[in-house]
Amino acid sequence: MNIKTVDLRSDTITLPSKEMRAAMARAEVGDDVYGEDPTVNLLESEAAALVGKEAALFVSSGTMGNLIAILTHTSRGDAVLLDPEAHIFYYEAGGASLIGGVQLWPVTNLHSYEGIDNLKKALRPPDQHFAPAALLCLENTHNRNGGTILKPEEQDKYYEIACKAKIPLHLDGARIFNAALALNCPVTDLTRSCDSIMFCLSKGLGAPVGSILAGSSSFIERARRYRKVLGGGMRQAGILAAAGLIALKNIPYLSEDHRRARILAEGITSRTIFRVTPSPPPTNMVIINTEPLSSAEFLSRLESYGVKSIAFGENRVRMVTHLDISDEGIDWALEAIERLSREVK
Ligand SMILES: *Cc1c(COP(=O)(O)O)cnc(C)c1O
Repeated sequence: MNIKTVDLRSDTITLPSKEMRAAMARAEVGDDVYGEDPTVNLLESEAAALVGKEAALFVSSGTMGNLIAILTHTSRGDAVLLDPEAHIFYYEAGGASLIGGVQLWPVTNLHSYEGIDNLKKALRPPDQHFAPAALLCLENTHNRNGGTILKPEEQDKYYEIACKAKIPLHLDGARIFNAALALNCPVTDLTRSCDSIMFCLSKGLGAPVGSILAGSSSFIERARRYRKVLGGGMRQAGILAAAGLIALKNIPYLSEDHRRARILAEGITSRTIFRVTPSPPPTNMVIINTEPLSSAEFLSRLESYGVKSIAFGENRVRMVTHLDISDEGIDWALEAIERLSREVK
């Protein structure tokens, strides 16, 4: 094999395809802040229909989409309930507090069974001592849990609790299509139980830039103002939206990423001393226990054999399959991990 490097750090590293670049070059554009970019308008209406919502907003990133959702759903001093491992809590630079003035309130193991109990406890009755809970956020698939999935019935249950507490539910669905494909259900089974959803075009779907925030028409109308506040009102953004429209066509290929993640995980389990959890990987992420090596040592030695991945803790490493990873790339990665395993044993 003459592959030099296999980059499994993230599905964000995918490069725009030739088809995407061609579509970007010929995109019809206008000033989107005036609502006059036909390509952005088309992407927003296709995206809204796809997830079964009235309207959608094209935003620069998933982080911006989540922050706009929080700004739109809450007021300063409110509490936002979410899992402490949620992307919004862990990886979004504290933006919700910095800009939204909300208190992010972690609910331990929110996405597991005991999470329902923990959530009920976190939904405290009104009291002058408490920041009032104003929003519940879920994440599907759950990145830091290893791309794990919440099923439609499970999400419905959370939504029921949120409705009873009269608070909206925002779904961080950066990889919602991975969840739907893995469950073999329509994505609307997962989006029916939320008031707003963000999904990423720039991850496994391969667009260079962009995410979608979707919800009711009145929600999106208010969200549009917050996008402007954050500097996200882009002008001839149709050039980017054209790539987004092609990205939506890539949805079915996410199954290939799942198949390759399983092959990678099976190979690691059967051919090396390292362990994979969860196993089999539910979607496109493979989390490896690197013991007896530290994750730092595992990463640097593997990189010297031409395989890149990222640390997910002291002894945990994450590998993500994506559009730019072939079957050959998986073989190459497995050979490298096997070599490392032989040296450690
Ligand atoms: C990547 C990701 C985001 C943020 O998307 P960016 O475009 O990188 O800002 C949000 N939530 C989850 C679960 C993600 O994996």
